[in-house]
Amino acid sequence: MRSCISSASFDLEMNLYPIIFLSVVFFGALFLIFRKRKIDPISLTKADLSLFDEHVEFYRNLNPAKKKQFIKKVGVFLASIKIEGVGLEVTALDRVLIAASAIIPIFGFDEWSYQNLGSVVLYPDTFNKDFQFEDSERNIMGMVGNGFMNGQMILSRTALHHGFSKSAGKGNTAIHEFVHLIDDADGAIDGIPEQLLAHEYTFPWLKMMHEEMERIQKNKSDINPYALTNQAEFFAVASEYFFEQPDSLKDKHPELYEQLSMIFGQDLA
Ligand SMILES: [Zn+2]
Repeated sequence: MRSCISSASFDLEMNLYPIIFLSVVFFGALFLIFRKRKIDPISLTKADLSLFDEHVEFYRNLNPAKKKQFIKKVGVFLASIKIEGVGLEVTALDRVLIAASAIIPIFGFDEWSYQNLGSVVLYPDTFNKDFQFEDSERNIMGMVGNGFMNGQMILSRTALHHGFSKSAGKGNTAIHEFVHLIDDADGAIDGIPEQLLAHEYTFPWLKMMHEEMERIQKNKSDINPYALTNQAEFFAVASEYFFEQPDSLKDKHPELYEQLSMIFGQDLA
């Protein structure tokens, strides 16, 4: 009887080995997948931090705790996105300005990663629709790719730097392009960021956009007429204004300011 019990427990132990083995393999694989998805943020140097302080007003205006949060998001962004130069060598300042443009519009969100972006390609100056930058008919300052270029953003370095200069006014090309990607997160660049705008606000937002477009048309608005191109461009252009001159936007377009403040989860004025 005793030996019988002992033999049963021996068999049981033997039968457990494959299960234990498979469990180890299974959880090990899960661990590896999980580990692969977790991005180790790039740590920024003191020199990088000085560049943020020197060139990025949005960052300069943050309190120390928020600055830390901003830099953490920058580190994750830079670890997950490739930045390449065409006809130029990408500098530390280029990286800082691209990362700042990416983080400024999403700074109000707890979690956000640009799922629809793999790389940012920097050109020396404006380029044409065939991506030639040494052409006389070049006027594109930035664009986000679709079709075969999906996952790519192209930026002119001149436009990138101008957006963070004192003469930038209400414009910032790189922020504009990142806003297109935020708009694209629901699958359509249409000026309606569905993931950030509760359904009941969609119609009032559309109405607000079209009323303002009418004012631009009649020369009764200080919003860049490029916003007339379509709803997507209106959203991107108005967002540039929101991040570059929030006080002025709130003063001249209080409803538009409130709406953008709700979309981006930031009250900058
Ligand atoms: Zn655009």
